[in-house]
Amino acid sequence: MATELNDLLGETLLAVNTDVTSESYRQVPIDELKNKVLAIYFSAHWCPPCQQFTPKLAECYKKIQSELHDKFDIIFVSSDEDETSFDEYFRTMPWKALRYSDRERSKKLSKKFNVDGIPTLIVLLADGNLLTENGRNDIASKGAEAVRSWVQGLLWPGISCNACQMNPLVGQRYNCSTCDKYNLCFACQNNGHEHELTLMSPELSTIGEIVWKGIDTS
Ligand SMILES: [Zn+2]
Ligand SMILES: [Zn+2]
Repeated sequence: MATELNDLLGETLLAVNTDVTSESYRQVPIDELKNKVLAIYFSAHWCPPCQQFTPKLAECYKKIQSELHDKFDIIFVSSDEDETSFDEYFRTMPWKALRYSDRERSKKLSKKFNVDGIPTLIVLLADGNLLTENGRNDIASKGAEAVRSWVQGLLWPGISCNACQMNPLVGQRYNCSTCDKYNLCFACQNNGHEHELTLMSPELSTIGEIVWKGIDTS
């Protein structure tokens, strides 16, 4: 896995150094992100919707830190126009970043994940499978609960939760035998339903795009 992660993101990432007496950034070895659900955050300081979304995402990130710091992380991929803007923007982020100077890799990642606008939050399962290209909507509608769902790791391709609209449905899935094609995620199952629910057997999905494989980083 480490090799494939390297292919995608390089050897090291940056994190803001909170210790003001030393360097601005801490170098983060890519191995620290191994076996985690990863969200790749395409964003830029000059983009107003990004300026609105970043604090919301940061709030969720901080909320889940104590419980999920070893299961989830975020990597900022900048579309800023220069390094000064990047520095100013990244300072507001509690997660990791691809270094600004690696423009080539930023471009390849955007292309790889078909990013056609910002902000975009791509979420990858720990095995490299694409979980959702629409992490932004999940965060906007569910907040930190979205991250809790993502890290459950089990993916039901093509199935969403009818209650919270989480798409795709992640983790345990509860199906109503009375309502046709009615599915609930774990969190919504707790809120109840008028009919009896069946827990669908958890089979690991092999469907979904393998993102680690075949990325052209040459
Ligand atoms: Zn739900
Ligand atoms: Zn029902």
